Amino acid sequence: DSLHSKPHVALLSSPGIGHLTPVLELSKRLVANHGFHVTVFSVTTTTTTTAPPPPKPKTATTTTLDLVDIFELHVDISGLVNPNAPFVARVGVTMRESLPILRQAISGMDPRPTILVVDIFGTEAMKIADEFDMSKYVFITTSAWVFAFCVFVPTLDDEVEGEYVDLQEPVKIPGCNPVRVEDLVDPMLDRRSQQYFEFLRTCKGYLSFDGVLVNTWEDLERPTLKAFRENGILKQILKAPIYPIGPLIKRVGSSGSRSELLDWLDLQPCQSVLYVSFGSAGTVSAKQITELAWGLELSQQRFIWVLRPPMEKNGPHDLNGCDDVANYLPDGFLSRTHKLGLVVPMWAPQEEILGHRSVGGFLSHGGWNSSLESILSGLPMIMWPLYAEQKMNAAMVVEELEVGVRVVQLSEMVEREEIAKFVRMVMEGREGEAMRTRVKELQCSGERALIENGSSYESMCELARDFEMKLKH
Ligand code: UDP
Repeated sequence: DSLHSKPHVALLSSPGIGHLTPVLELSKRLVANHGFHVTVFSVTTTTTTTAPPPPKPKTATTTTLDLVDIFELHVDISGLVNPNAPFVARVGVTMRESLPILRQAISGMDPRPTILVVDIFGTEAMKIADEFDMSKYVFITTSAWVFAFCVFVPTLDDEVEGEYVDLQEPVKIPGCNPVRVEDLVDPMLDRRSQQYFEFLRTCKGYLSFDGVLVNTWEDLERPTLKAFRENGILKQILKAPIYPIGPLIKRVGSSGSRSELLDWLDLQPCQSVLYVSFGSAGTVSAKQITELAWGLELSQQRFIWVLRPPMEKNGPHDLNGCDDVANYLPDGFLSRTHKLGLVVPMWAPQEEILGHRSVGGFLSHGGWNSSLESILSGLPMIMWPLYAEQKMNAAMVVEELEVGVRVVQLSEMVEREEIAKFVRMVMEGREGEAMRTRVKELQCSGERALIENGSSYESMCELARDFEMKLKH
């Protein structure tokens, strides 16, 4: 029957909406375009972030998404790791703790999945794939350039003496753009740290998969993708094929009911509103929030700002309830700017906002999903990287793609004049106009990649053929 004639693919998503979203988008495509049977294992934990919980996993009814079975693997790591430990360390423990439940779930399935696709933090689950004789793939939910860097990290670990932060020159990756020392990912800042150890282990893990899926597309990262394919050092290190299958982003209309923010946006002029958000978990200091508020006010541009409590406030917060956004803003800010902008506590339907014609720019922490969503909405960016690989994303968006500017973080603080200058530059300056033209070209190329005969569409078909071949063997 059809259940047994098509591959059953299991996907493992690590905690965080930034991982779950692309995994779900991939799943939907595997079902809709290739008729596969797909199960998503979504790992969650109690101490993930200050972000609201991801959409409740379900096994349900009518739409394409509902043909994807979603299982939540909930692990409690409260006694195992310090809640203030860096994200990479927490996520490492979380994913390890989820393995026994994953094993048990897979062993009870009929038909049992023949393919396991994990995301960037799921490399240790390859043991389970081996136990059940499944093929194993990793889905990179960031750029091919960041992935090239990761693939090269074990070599760097062998070759570089001393701390990476003491290097005098940018780090060269064969065939790809170099990485500035200041832009290195957080775990590399201290080679003796637990998070460096976890990161190195993860990077080595990437080398053992049967294939690598990347949320990017040919036209966006042609030289980097070429470096993986041509006979060079990268190809020697990573032998597995690489499939650029992006941009897989949340689509407009996926969040259900219409937000009031869109009614407000309807009343604003075309491309006049700056959207400000630091992703699902990013926060800045109380002083920086004040400075950002002044910067927005000084710019006199319209805005929607998703505000989260300052990072000094540890623990969970509910800005929708007793904690009022005004507590974190300069006195009188809300009344002085009430015609100009909106401050939204905690969370906003980002894909709907970016897709609205009144929005003209995005001040972002530069998470890969946000960067892709901005490009696919044709919006120039102000990049304000905070953690993880965001500095590399900022470098790529600003220097290589030239569709954004990057704030200068002098002594950890971005000054109000600087913020106002960048906001005006992107929203009404000539530079902003030029970036807008370029980003719209990228938007078209991203859209083209996904439609029939597009590069990512073809790449997905090739991947699907590989999955089917594995079933026959
Ligand atoms: N997001 C959202 N509303 C918010 C903040 C984030 O819908 O208020 C979504 C955003 O559209 C993106 C994801 O959450 O799809 C965040 O992923 P990203 O890679 O940009 O950053 P991360 O949160 O993983 O650092």
